[in-house]
Amino acid sequence: MKAATPASGRARAGGAGHRPKHVPQRMCVACREREAKRALIRVVRTPEGSVEIDPSGKRNGRGAYLCDRLGCWERALKSDALARALNTTMMPETLERLRHYAAGLATSSDGEAQATAAEPTKG
Ligand SMILES: [Zn+2]
Repeated sequence: MKAATPASGRARAGGAGHRPKHVPQRMCVACREREAKRALIRVVRTPEGSVEIDPSGKRNGRGAYLCDRLGCWERALKSDALARALNTTMMPETLERLRHYAAGLATSSDGEAQATAAEPTKG
């Protein structure tokens, strides 16, 4: 018995050689480390002038990227690095919102969530 191998070679027009897969990289505005775009969180200044977190990375406007580390967010907010990257001025409520978001990052990456304050054990 002979296994008939299909000899239909795929002919591709214009094979431009093999490139390594291009992963778009972005720089965290706080620690300035380059990471894959998907590993970073985009913050966008919308055309209306408000600053929003953009998990989809697709919103219109000027974007800046931050790691998902609380430390980077704190640094970026404290040092105004994020505001500068977005070429805007942060409103207090915007800062508040971003801090709140960052705090959520910290707990979710920690794994140790839902540490419900139980009743103190009495002797
Ligand atoms: Zn960073």
